[in-house]
Amino acid sequence: MSDTTIFDKIISREIPADIVYEDDQILAFKDIAPKAPVHYLIIPKQRIATLNDASQKDQALLGHMMLTASNLAAEAGIAESGYRVQMNVNKGGGQVVFHIHLHMFGGRQLAE
Ligand code: AMP
Repeated sequence: MSDTTIFDKIISREIPADIVYEDDQILAFKDIAPKAPVHYLIIPKQRIATLNDASQKDQALLGHMMLTASNLAAEAGIAESGYRVQMNVNKGGGQVVFHIHLHMFGGRQLAE
């Protein structure tokens, strides 16, 4: 597995992204292939390949990602109507980019 992914290039601004939030630890941007009217990805700036690679030291970072997802849903006006937060893990879980990311999407009725 490569040590870097396309998300590193977004963090370093080598490739463009529609960034909706940034701080010293995380970045959030619009998914290039949105599954819903609002679809953001929230990623840590320091690469962790999969959730399986996260450890106790990442606990606060993971919580920060989750709370940012909820803040961004509120900003996007979909907090009350509802949205989904999802992290895919490894190939069988649908993970394609091996740099952990939360999907936050909504703005339409989501099926189970
Ligand atoms: P996953 O399948 O969980 O690994 O999700 C990867 C997500 O990254 C997909 O929803 C893609 O549409 C999204 N994606 C891939 N490349 C880009 C990009 N350059 N900018 C924004 N989103 C991207």
